[in-house]
Amino acid sequence: MNIVVQKYGGTSVGSVERIQNVAKRIIEKKKNNHQIVVVVSAMGKTTDDLVKLAYAINPSPSKREMDRLLSTGEQISISLLSMALQSMGHDAISFTGPQIGIRTSGLHTKSRIEGIDTTKILDSLNEDKIVIIAGFQGVNDNDDVTTLGRGGSDTSAVALACVLDAPCEIYTDVEGIYGVDPRLYPAAKKLDSVSYEEMLEMASLGAGVMHPRAIELGSKYDTNIWVASSEFDVPGTIIKKGEKGMEGQSITGVAIDNDQIMITIRDIPFDMNITSHFFYQFANKSINIDMISQSAPIDGLINISFTAPSSDLNDANKILSAFQEKHPSIGVLINESISKLSVVGIGMRSQSGVAAKFFQLLADNDIQMLMITTSEIRISCIIKSKDKDIAVSATAEAFEL
Ligand code: ADP
Ligand code: ASP
Ligand code: MG
Repeated sequence: MNIVVQKYGGTSVGSVERIQNVAKRIIEKKKNNHQIVVVVSAMGKTTDDLVKLAYAINPSPSKREMDRLLSTGEQISISLLSMALQSMGHDAISFTGPQIGIRTSGLHTKSRIEGIDTTKILDSLNEDKIVIIAGFQGVNDNDDVTTLGRGGSDTSAVALACVLDAPCEIYTDVEGIYGVDPRLYPAAKKLDSVSYEEMLEMASLGAGVMHPRAIELGSKYDTNIWVASSEFDVPGTIIKKGEKGMEGQSITGVAIDNDQIMITIRDIPFDMNITSHFFYQFANKSINIDMISQSAPIDGLINISFTAPSSDLNDANKILSAFQEKHPSIGVLINESISKLSVVGIGMRSQSGVAAKFFQLLADNDIQMLMITTSEIRISCIIKSKDKDIAVSATAEAFEL
């Protein structure tokens, strides 16, 4: 079978005309002898609007109910796309995540895909139908609908491609993956290809063009992922296994994440049991902590700073209050006006001087770094949010992205 999985994002299915345009593209592909599985996101800003609605009703909505609500966005777009295809004379059938057996584990609003039953998909393809599947959602062991985290339709699509042993085409509102978000730096250059490793770092560090879990899955199953425009027929970017040559650019991309908070705790007793217990509370809530720095102990006390996603602020506040109740002498400071700026590239493995160049350009632009962390292929630093625009442009320019 010549199966291909295509995914269309929110903007790409944001209006009747756009849905019709997507339907035409799917039909073209089918005419080229493909069996097509399509994953779609909710139309336009539907998910954002549903989130606002939830918070207008309840400032602390239950995560189970949140999943129930947010999963409805994709249900609208799958049925409309299916109707569009049918009106153009093609047989199509839509399914929700639970209906198609996308089984998930983990907490509500940030579940992970455990497995997919392909029976219904293959049966429908064999009946010559175009199969349309709601992205972003699945079902857990309690038979509750779950969601995969914002932007999670990419992960639904790649997971389906993995189990169907098919290539995955992600169609979106830009023409591919760029060295930096082209909306922030219009001179950004499009990449022909990017390695899973680099894309995973970029996606995890704020390049919202792809959901990080999608890249993790693609890499695990060695599934090629194409990212291209849903509107224009121009070559996009392929995400695949790969190393760059020794003489390649040191930096492949810059990412900026404006949805992070920085938490600093002062005067914690210097005891590893206390520190590990504290971070366990965050792990239990599946809060992804990225940067951690700890001061040297003075008089048996340490300070710890770390970053967490802003969307976890409510849970973080509860954990911090409980910690403060147990250790009344500690001080807690939450800084919400920060951004995490990162440079990523496997070229860093073989080229020195990247950190020096990066820090110098920040210094030249009077940008302070509040925290730094590095891995073999990335350098991230926390800066004040007010500096983010100039920091992105200066970095992109300096590294010719
Ligand atoms: P979709 O609704 O199709 O999933 P998203 O909004 O999730 O689309 O992702 C596409 C957006 O990602 C683009 O509009 C762009 O602003 C942003 N983006 C961030 N970083 C990059 C990058 N490095 N290359 C391309 N686009 C990026
Ligand atoms: N509709 C969901 C969101 O806006 C999932 C997605 O678009 O990938 O986050
Ligand atoms: Mg997206």
